Amino acid sequence: MTDGQHLERRMDWFRQRCKRAGLACTHQRQVIYRVLAASESHPSPESVYERVRMEIPSISVATIYKSIRTFMDQGLLQQVNPLHEAARLDANLEPHHHLVCTACKSVEDLPAELIEAPRPVRPLPNGFRAREFHIEVLGLCARCAGKG
Ligand SMILES: [Zn+2]
Ligand SMILES: [Zn+2]
Repeated sequence: MTDGQHLERRMDWFRQRCKRAGLACTHQRQVIYRVLAASESHPSPESVYERVRMEIPSISVATIYKSIRTFMDQGLLQQVNPLHEAARLDANLEPHHHLVCTACKSVEDLPAELIEAPRPVRPLPNGFRAREFHIEVLGLCARCAGKG
């Protein structure tokens, strides 16, 4: 499957999910979602805005934020780490981890099967119930490591 076909499949899936959720699948929402689905760099809302603006020059940042919020509420999008102050968005909903470069702040996908998820050896403190483990591997990407 080429990248283009892969993207079209993601867009078909998106339109079906919108329909099921009773969400209007407007041109604007489709352009925004396409930018997200085509990006592997886990963009911030600001960089999504920059890219969408090339197609829809009249769009506002507020509209981008609103759509992103709607997509997240509908489970069409997630955040790399919901507690990060700067949101990084992820349209890849397959279980996976992340490689985070501490120098250039790039975020790359790390397929779940490449790493063994941790298993607690004792019950977690205060009766905390784990739902999933999300691993962020911090380090230097090849480009930044090369510079040092
Ligand atoms: Zn880097
Ligand atoms: Zn990801």
